[in-house]
Formats: sequence, C-alpha cells, structure tokens
Amino acid sequence: MTTQTGKKKKLFIGGQWVEARTYQSLKSPYDQSELAEIPVAEKEDVTKAIDAADSARETLRKMPAHERAVILENIAKGFEERLEFAAEILAKEAAKPVSTARGEVQRTIQTYKFAAEEAKRIHGETLPLDAAQGGENRLAYTVREPIGVIAAITPFNFPMNLVAHKVGPAIASGNPVVLKPASQTPLSSLLLAEIAEKAGLPTGALNVVTGRGSVIGDVFVNDDRVKMITFTGSPAVGIALRNKAGLKRVTLELGSNSAVIVDKEVNIDGLIPRCVTGAFAYQGQVCISLQRVYVHEDVYEEYVEKFVEKAKELKLGDPLDPSTDVSALISPDDVKRAGSWVNEAVQNGAKLALGGQSSETVFLPTVLTDVDRQEKVSCQEVFAPIVVINKVSSVEEAIGLVNDSSYGLQAGIYTNDVHTALDAADRLHVGGVLINDIPTFRVDHMPYGGVKESGAGREGIKYAIEEMTEMKLVIFNRNN
Ligand code: NAP
Repeated sequence: MTTQTGKKKKLFIGGQWVEARTYQSLKSPYDQSELAEIPVAEKEDVTKAIDAADSARETLRKMPAHERAVILENIAKGFEERLEFAAEILAKEAAKPVSTARGEVQRTIQTYKFAAEEAKRIHGETLPLDAAQGGENRLAYTVREPIGVIAAITPFNFPMNLVAHKVGPAIASGNPVVLKPASQTPLSSLLLAEIAEKAGLPTGALNVVTGRGSVIGDVFVNDDRVKMITFTGSPAVGIALRNKAGLKRVTLELGSNSAVIVDKEVNIDGLIPRCVTGAFAYQGQVCISLQRVYVHEDVYEEYVEKFVEKAKELKLGDPLDPSTDVSALISPDDVKRAGSWVNEAVQNGAKLALGGQSSETVFLPTVLTDVDRQEKVSCQEVFAPIVVINKVSSVEEAIGLVNDSSYGLQAGIYTNDVHTALDAADRLHVGGVLINDIPTFRVDHMPYGGVKESGAGREGIKYAIEEMTEMKLVIFNRNN
C-alpha cells in the first residue's frame, strides 16, 4: 500500500498514485495553517480516471455479489483500524470538532457495512404477463444491472460519510467510480483510496481526482462513458450540472432551511438539548441543520429562554480539543456572510437573543427571534450556527410557514396530539417528516433526499442502489 505520508499528495487513477502538474495549498479552516499540498487535476487527468473506470466496468459487472460484499467489509475494517487517524483528518480539514468527527467515522464504517449487506440483496421480480390478453405462456422477470461509470461529486461538510453514501452503493451494485471530493476536504477521500487499495477492489474501480469543481465537473458532463452523476452539494451547482447532463442519470442531494414545529403542551425541558444540538452541531453546516423553529405562543417564552440558556453552555474552540462543541466555519468568507445576514435581519427588526459576533474564523452560536420570513437567515440556507425562533398561534400557521420555502429536505414536529402529528405528516412538503424529533436526524440506511430545491433522487444504500442500476426486462416465450 502506498501511504501518502508527506504533505504533497497525489491523485489516485487506475490503481496508481499520480502527480499533477499543479498543486494548491490546503489550509486549516481553524487557524489557517497549511495542512497539505493538493494536486489540481486537469482535463487529461480526469479523462484518464474515466478511462480507468471504464476499463474496470466489465470486471466489476461480472464480480459475484459475495466478493463485492467482502471488499466493502474490508473497507469498513480499514476505517475501523484507522478510526482515530480518520477523525483527526476530519477535524483538521473540515474543522469538525473531534468528538463529532469520531461520530462521522463510525457512521462511515456503518455505511460501508450496510453497502456490503445490500450488495447481496439486489434482485428483480417476476411478472404475470398473462394478466394481459396475448401475454399467455410467457415467463417474464426483471433484473437490475449496473448503470456504468459513476461520477461522484461530494461536499465539504461530511467528507467521509457522504463519500461512503456514493462509493458504497456504487461498488455494491458493480459500478466503477470517479470521485471528486470538495476542494476543502480532499484528505478523507485520499485516505479512502489508500484503504480501498488494500481492500481488494479491482484496478480502476475507484479513482480519486482532486481539483476545481468546474473543471472536473465539465469533463464528467461531456464524457459519454459517464452514465450517472451523483452530486451532493449546493442547489446552484447541482441544478446547473443537471441542466447540462443530457441523458445521464443525475441524483441531487442539495441544501435546505429545515424547520421544526413545537406545539402547545409539549414538555419543553425534554426537547431543548436536542434542538440546541440540531441547530449548532458542526457549526450548523449540516444540510438538515435546524434553522427555523416555529413555537406555539403558549410555550414560546419558555422555549426561547431555555434554548438560549442551553446554547450558552456550548464550548467554542480548537476542533482537535475533545471538549469543543463549536469550532470554525469552513472559510472566513462564510463568517463574513453569516455576520452580514444576521446584521441585515436585526436592522430589519429581528431581535438578537444570543451571539451575532465572530472572530475571523469562529461564528458564535446565534439565536434570532421575530424574524421576517423574507430575511436571508430565514428563507435561504444559512449553513452557520444561526437559528430563527418565531412565535405562531397554531400548528396550522406553522405548517404554512414551514412549506413557504424553496427547499424541502426534512421537517420535524413536537406534539402530544396524534391527529396533529398525522395531519402534519400529510401536509409538510418535504422528503422526510420527523414526529417528536428535530429534522436533523439521519441514520444511514433510511431513504434520504428532498423535494423542491433540496434535490432529486434518494440516498440510503438500498435507495441509492436503485438509482445506480438499470432495470432490464426478460421475456421467455414458451408458446413454440
Ligand atoms: P458546493 O459548493 O456546491 O460544492 C459541492 C461539490 O461540488 C464540491 O466538490 C465542489 O468542488 C463541486 N463543484 C463546485 N462547482 C462545480 C461545478 N461547476 N461543477 C461540478 N462540481 C462543482 O457545496 P459545499 O459548500 O461543499 O457543501 C454545502 C452544500 O451541500 C449545502 O448546500 C448543503 O446543504 C449541501 N449538502 C446536502 C446534503 C444532502 O444530502 N442533501 C448533504 C450535505 C451537504 P470544489 O470544492 O472544488 O468547488
């Protein structure tokens, strides 16, 4: 195994570690120190990665399910063996507090294990063709075949587990992958390549190209051998990719401004710790981060007071310190953007109940109340530790406000009334409804994805495999 120990990293193409012509410096979001020099792939490098993936296609397609499962189990084991090292990578490149980073590595391990299990469950169905006149005496069944070369583009915020959500199901279903991780978080994908190299993957089945999204994305879009683009990231980039992708299959896991509704008569003490975690975990840089809270007027004052009290306990600091809850945003530009959105809301009448300030890199957990629905902190994806808590006079009103969004990933409702819960489940226009929980809940085998500008298609291994395979129909005519 080639372990990339030095600061200067290489691309992983066709089973080889390859130098690039140019490099860019990767800086720590927390203290801006240099972490590594990252290769900037050019068009030719990306084409070579697609060549390699294309040549692995037949090998993977013919590989028995039990062998694909063993490879995925080996990848899971590789992460298990390097758990602490992997968590440190996440803490350094993404400024993810190391206790949260460990959680991500554990989930990554589980995601590859789920993929190993699902590899053995890919099957079609038999069809009663004789239900139609003229369909008698025919045996019909479907099979699911691998789609072909898959290009995976991933964001910075869960750089290990969201990669696992693409590489895991792709390998499980017999598809080679070219992976392009976010420029701020390439180290976790290069670690995956090292682990995969040892796991028994055929040469070319996984390729990792780092560099500029626009350059690499254009090669993916324009190469006919790429049959699917699986993208997780911001709506602007995802929608533009889809518009250019022609007949390629494109799945989009995009952003949101997720909300929870708090009905009257619920036990506020019981839900505050969870709501505070939902709003501020990983500095709010989670696609289902709790951004908007709509609280019934009967319990509103109590909710705000207790929420602020709890949020004050969060410890800010170095992501490598195990006691840190909140660390740096991914870039100083994001700190400036978050500050300007908060200021704008306050100038327009919102009340600042907590935070609102920052250092150059760390934005303080921030609570705003009485925020107009047109404010950016409410209607756009804030992706920072900022939460809006507004008063409503009924769940009915709250459902209208939750749905008044261009996004729709997940939403939650806390209520003691089963009819209210079921009514909300019917009427909330999102990909997933959480009853008596925050929207910030995900385990890795559940179907996950959004409506509206939150995306198209579903992940969660079994569901991603459906997207990554083509259904083929076979009809055996027994009439002659
Ligand atoms: P981003 O800026 O859209 O980047 C995502 C990926 O797209 C990166 O690898 C980026 O590469 C690449 N990219 C940029 N421009 C491209 C182009 N023109 N063509 C092809 N690829 C291009 O998103 P981010 O800031 O990393 O991540 C945050 C976003 O992801 C948020 O909106 C969040 O909600 C969303 N997200 C969604 C989910 C979900 O499952 N729904 C999960 C996590 C995150 P570079 O880094 O090189 O620019």
